[in-house]
Order: sequence, then C-alpha cells, then structure tokens
Amino acid sequence: MSVAERIAIVQERIAVAARRAGRKPDDVTLVAVTKTHPPELVAEAIAAGLTNLGENRVQEAQTKIVALAAARQQVRWHLIGHLQRNKARLATELFDLVHSVDSLRLAEALQCYAAEAGRRLPVLLQVNVSGEASKEGFALTGGVANRAGLDALLSEVERIVALPALELRGLMTVAPIVAHPEQARPTFRALRELGEELARRFPAAHWGELSMGMTDDFEAAIAEGATIVRVGRAIFGPR
Ligand SMILES: *Cc1c(COP(=O)(O)O)cnc(C)c1O
Repeated sequence: MSVAERIAIVQERIAVAARRAGRKPDDVTLVAVTKTHPPELVAEAIAAGLTNLGENRVQEAQTKIVALAAARQQVRWHLIGHLQRNKARLATELFDLVHSVDSLRLAEALQCYAAEAGRRLPVLLQVNVSGEASKEGFALTGGVANRAGLDALLSEVERIVALPALELRGLMTVAPIVAHPEQARPTFRALRELGEELARRFPAAHWGELSMGMTDDFEAAIAEGATIVRVGRAIFGPR
C-alpha cells in the first residue's frame, strides 16, 4: 500500500471516530510522525496533501526540514519529543508548534530564545497523568483529583502563562501501552479534564488543543476530545 493510501485510511478512521463522538472530522488535526523515515518518504506524505509533520528529535528534524526546504511554506513542523534545554534555541528556529514543554525551566529557555528571535512560539504543555515513571511531562498522576499535584502544577502554569514570547495552545500527553485502546481512555479523559480546569483558572490563555492519541489509540483519544493526533506507523509502516 502507498503512503497516500495509508493516509486516506487514517483520515477516514479519524472522521468515523469524530462523528461517533458527535464531533466534526475537521476538528481533529492529523500530525504525521516521520521520525526514523527518510525525507523521500516524507515528501510522499506532503505530495498526498499532509501539512502537519511531527518529529521527536531536534537534530533529525533539522536534517529533514533542510532536505524538504522547498515545501517549508506548505507544512507545519511539530516537535513531539523531549526537548533538552541546550537545543531550545534551535527548536525555536525550526518548529511551528512544540508539544513537549515539560518543565518551567524549559519554558523559560524557550521564552528567552523566542523573545530574542522576535517571535511568539506556539507551545503545548506535556503532562504525565498516567504516573508511569518512563513518561516525560509535568507530573499529575491521577489528573485533577490529585489536589496536591494540581496545586503544584498550577503554580508552575501561573508562571508559564506569564511568559510573553510563548503562545500557549493547550496540552499533550502520551498514554501507557495497553492491551486494548479503550484502556487508554482514562488517561485521555484526565488530560481533557485538566484542560478544562486550566481554562477555568487561567481564562486569558488558550487551552483548546489536546494533543493525544497515536497509531494504537487515536480513536479512543478522539472519543475523549483529542484535537491533534500524532500518527506514525499507521502511515509509514513499522520503524
Ligand atoms: C513516535 C511517537 C508518536 C507516533 O507513534 P506511532 O505509534 O508510530 O503512531 C506519537 N507521539 C510521540 C510522542 C512519539 O514519540
């Protein structure tokens, strides 16, 4: 099957999941995750009409962004993996949306470089609501029911929303690997509820985006309100 055919299938599955949840297919953005795949394959996805591409490493993304420079105006590059502060400047130059802001210190570094570059950088806050030790993100095991955790998070978010060169758009999470995608739903629901709580606490910031759901669980994420799904293997095959 070609990349174009796989994209069509994923987009149809997104549309079905959205309608089933009483939502519009257009309310869910597909980010094609291109990590490990060569620029030629990414070019096929762009030719098939995909406009949102995700990478989880800055250096690898840079190589592809340079190789695909001719298409730069047509596409939006998303950083979805952990960002080290020593790569924050480069990330600010390369990406249209950073999903993986996972600490106040990283947010402050991005603020500094974005301000220097004279731009506002769109970002999401990555939150670990499942409690898995292996997961990046602000820790909020159990979601908003965890009052002590929520208070700690709120005091950090209060400082992040005050950073003028960052344009907060919402939240991102990675669900645990589970036997059945339905088992990931509590994680996705917890992120949505946190977004609602943050919208109440910080109404001047934007909390509308929920980046959640990958190849194995994007339909469950859409059922819980995902506005961005990050899909790699279903489009490009195994890594
Ligand atoms: C690799 C990756 C994805 C895509 O995973 P697939 O299972 O290939 O769809 C999504 N999000 C993050 C953060 C990733 O690292």
